[in-house]
Amino acid sequence: MLGQMMSQPLLISSLISHAERYHASGEIYSVNTGGGVEQTNWGQVAQNARLLASALSKLGLKPQARCGTIAWNNRRHLEIYFGTSGGGFVCHTINPRLFPEQLVYILNHAEDKVLFIDKTFVPLIAAVRDKLEHLEHIVLMDGHDAQAAETLPGLVFYDDLIATGDAGYAWPEMDEYTASSLCYTSGTTGNPKGVLYSHRSTVLHALAGNLPDAVAIAAADVVLPVVPMFHVNAWGSPYCCAMSGARLVLPGPGLDGPSLVNLIDTYNVTLAMGVPTIWLGLLGEAKKIGSKLASLKRTVVGGSACPPSMIKAFRDEYGVDTIHAWGMTEMSPLGSVNRPLAKHSALRTEEQHRLRENQGRPVWGVELEILDENGNPLPHDGKAQGDLVTRGHWILDAYFRSTSEETLSNGWFDTGDVATMDPDGYVTIRDRSKDIIKSGGEWISSVELENIAIAHPALVDAAVIGARHPKWDERPILIAVKAEGQDPSEADILAIFEGKIAKWQLPDCVVFTDILPRNATGKVLKRNLRDQFGDVLMA
Ligand code: ADP
Repeated sequence: MLGQMMSQPLLISSLISHAERYHASGEIYSVNTGGGVEQTNWGQVAQNARLLASALSKLGLKPQARCGTIAWNNRRHLEIYFGTSGGGFVCHTINPRLFPEQLVYILNHAEDKVLFIDKTFVPLIAAVRDKLEHLEHIVLMDGHDAQAAETLPGLVFYDDLIATGDAGYAWPEMDEYTASSLCYTSGTTGNPKGVLYSHRSTVLHALAGNLPDAVAIAAADVVLPVVPMFHVNAWGSPYCCAMSGARLVLPGPGLDGPSLVNLIDTYNVTLAMGVPTIWLGLLGEAKKIGSKLASLKRTVVGGSACPPSMIKAFRDEYGVDTIHAWGMTEMSPLGSVNRPLAKHSALRTEEQHRLRENQGRPVWGVELEILDENGNPLPHDGKAQGDLVTRGHWILDAYFRSTSEETLSNGWFDTGDVATMDPDGYVTIRDRSKDIIKSGGEWISSVELENIAIAHPALVDAAVIGARHPKWDERPILIAVKAEGQDPSEADILAIFEGKIAKWQLPDCVVFTDILPRNATGKVLKRNLRDQFGDVLMA
C-alpha cells in the first residue's frame, strides 16, 4: 500500500520561492568587488534569479548545461546559485586559487558553456580563454565595464543579461535526482575530481543543516558566510538561509580580520562560518581595536581541526559558542557537528568544555563507521582509531564521469581521515590517513600536536609532519611561524607540550619558517613540508 500524501520533488527552486514568499524583505548586505556595500533582500534576489534562469534559456542553453562561476561571496553569486540550479542548469563553482592548468582542466572536464566571473578574475580568464574548449559565454558579474570588455572580447554583462529575462518566468518542475551543482575537490594529488550534487541531496542537506543540533539557522539570524561560495557551496549556507529566511552578510573579496570585525559590528551578525585560519585574523583584530563582537552568538568552524584555544577565546572573551563541525566536498559537506547532550550538563564545567572540542556527532542523514585495515568495524570506545567511512543522503556515490564501483567500497565512501568514535558517536579526527605519523609502530596524531602548539602566544601558525628517522621510521617535527616581534627558542616552544602529551609523542625538533604552504582551500600542504623538511632528522 502506498502512502497517500502529496508528491512534490525536493527542488532548490522551492527554497528561493519560500524566501521570496515569506521573507521577501529579509535584508542581504553584499560587499561589492570594487568596494562599497550594496543592500538587497530575498525578494529581489529571487526575482533576479528567475530573470537569470529565463535569460539563460533564451541563450539556448540545454537543461543540465554547466554554468561555471569564479566569484566572491556576493549577491549576484547568490542569484546565480538559485537561477542556474532552479532553471535546470548546473551551478559549477570554481576555486580561483587553483593553478591555471587545473582551472583549464576543470572547465573542460565539466564542459562549462557559460562562465560567470567577478572583475578580479578577468586577467585570470583572459590568460586561459583560448584553452577553454566548450565555453560559449563569459559573463562579468557587474554592470558595463569598458576595460573588461576590451580584455575579454565578447564579454556579456550580468545586469544586461538578466534584463533580457522574462519577469513572469516560472520555475520548471523536474526530477529531484536531477543534478543541481558541481564542485571539484582541490586535487592535492592528481587531477581534481568533480562532485555532482542533486536537488534532492542539496535540499535534504539544508534541512539537516538547520536542525537544532546542527547549525540551526533561524529567520532571526544574521549570517556571515566567510567560507567561500566556491568551496562546497559555502557549506550549504545559501540554501539553509533561504530555507529559514535568515538575513545574510556576503563579505566579498576582503576576508581579513579588520573587514570581518567591521561587518560583524556594523550589521549585527549573529552567526559566522569559516575555517580556523580566518578566525585567527578576526580574533587578533577584535582584540586590537577592543571590539566585543557584541552581536555574535555562534561561529561554525570546520575545514581543518579547530584548535581548543580558539574555542576558548571565543567563549571566554566574547561569549561566542563555537560549533565545531567536520565534513568534506564529497559530503556536501556536512558530516558531524559538536553539540552537547543533556547528560553533559551534569558534568564539571571543564569536562563540558573538553567535550566540545572534538568534531561532534553525525547529523541525521549521515552514517559514520570506523574500520580497521581489513575493513572490519572497530569498537566505538573513544580509543580504537581507524579509517572513517560514510554513507548517507548527501554523500557522493561516484565522482563526475566515474562510477560507484570505482568510488565506493561495500557501499561506503572512505573519507581518507583516521578517527576515533566514542559510545555516543562523537568523532575525533586524528589525522588524514596520509599525514598520520608512524613512529616505531605507534601512531601520533599531527592534529593533536598542532592544536597544542598553536596556543603558544609566540606563534601564529604551526604544522606537524612526520620526518624520516633512522631508528623510528618517522618522528614528529614541528614547523612553526613566529608571531610578529616574537623570537621564541626551540625550548620555549616545546615547553608548551609539557604535561599535555606522553613524552614519546613530543616533536623531535622545531623548525621555524616564514609561512606555511597552503592549497586552494586553505589547508596546509603537508606534502610540500615533507619534501622540504622531511630529512632534517637524518643528518
Ligand atoms: P579538499 O578539497 O581539500 O578535500 P575538503 O573541504 O573537502 O577539501 O576537505 C575535507 C577534509 O578536511 C576532511 O577529510 C578532513 O581531513 C578535513 N577537515 C574538515 N573539517 C575538519 C575538522 N573539523 N577537523 C579536522 N579536519 C577537518
